[in-house]
Amino acid sequence: MSSIWVLGAGQLGAMLKQAANPLGLDVKPVDIETDEVLPLQADDIVTAEREDWPETAATKQLAAHPNFVNLNTFPQLADRLTQKQWIDKLELATAPWFPVEADSTATKAYETLGERVLMKRRRGGYDGKGQYWLKQAEATEIPDDWKGFAIAEQAINFDEEVSVVGVRGKNGEKYFYPLTLNLHINGILYASISPLQRLEHLQPKAEAMLGKLMDALDYVGVMAMECFRCGDDLLINELAPRVHNSGHWTQAGASVDQFENHIRAVAGLPLAPAEIKNQSMMVNLIGVDVDYNWLAIKGLELYWYKKEVRPGRKVGHLNACSGNLEELQTILKELKTMPAPYDEALAWLSQHLP
Ligand code: ATP
Ligand code: MG
Ligand code: MG
Repeated sequence: MSSIWVLGAGQLGAMLKQAANPLGLDVKPVDIETDEVLPLQADDIVTAEREDWPETAATKQLAAHPNFVNLNTFPQLADRLTQKQWIDKLELATAPWFPVEADSTATKAYETLGERVLMKRRRGGYDGKGQYWLKQAEATEIPDDWKGFAIAEQAINFDEEVSVVGVRGKNGEKYFYPLTLNLHINGILYASISPLQRLEHLQPKAEAMLGKLMDALDYVGVMAMECFRCGDDLLINELAPRVHNSGHWTQAGASVDQFENHIRAVAGLPLAPAEIKNQSMMVNLIGVDVDYNWLAIKGLELYWYKKEVRPGRKVGHLNACSGNLEELQTILKELKTMPAPYDEALAWLSQHLP
């Protein structure tokens, strides 16, 4: 079979490659900075582990390939302005917003969106980087270098953050994983739990929303939709046209994980609904060193990305899936030596496990 090239060689590309191994598929993550001439064949397939990329020798070669799946969708979702416009056009709920233009003022932001307004860079933001709070109480102004490069969003007083990961095949068939409950600390994902029975009543709504987006974009592969849950309403926070951190638990908790499903979809292979095995939880490893003693903890699975550890940087994750909730609680107790803010993340998991 032809090769599947992945634009980007980070952890998502590595996990796509890992998931494709049992299927006998050859997945080739590409470092976007490489100067190599890529031996792309006419029947190869190209996908991406990131929605935004600079023009480099490597990305130019990949983008020129006729089988780059979703190529035209990436720029539309990578720019928060056009992403928000898509959400509005499909009449899906999202935080009220406006584009930050040259003549935008904080006064207008407070008038239209309220006393706390979150500016987000249109491009390139992740893990809460590229955000800037405007607070009326502090008379915050819009810095000049945000004008033309950001959107302004109403601060949402949400009950909690949830996400849904879906996959769509070339023929339009769609499957979804159960809603995931997510904990963000300072804008970065620390922990996830899924499935949760108490969120089940929102599943049809979440699937209809993400399904509508994927259909409208004629999207093929895995897409994630991050939402704020406000009572029984879901407001879309943002979309990710790729495999997503809040779907990492599927590696432990689903018969077919998000990575394999993405590969199946872009390769035009059959999709099938994944069996959900049991209760899953995921802990992101952020700015902490690997501790191979974790391997002695029953039921815990380690993914270490072999990246240099820096404060605030995602360098791995831990998954666990069990039908025995006591076992999951025991895992959380055994992780107690992790530094702050893991006390908060572990307590949150412990509290939200059924
Ligand atoms: P990611 O790593 O998920 O791609 P990001 O940098 O693209 O993150 P967002 O997901 O837009 O940024 O925001 C990060 C977090 O900031 C959210 O998960 C949420 O906790 C908080 N946040 C974002 N938008 C709002 C809002 N309008 N009101 C309140 N909190 C918000
Ligand atoms: Mg994002
Ligand atoms: Mg996000």
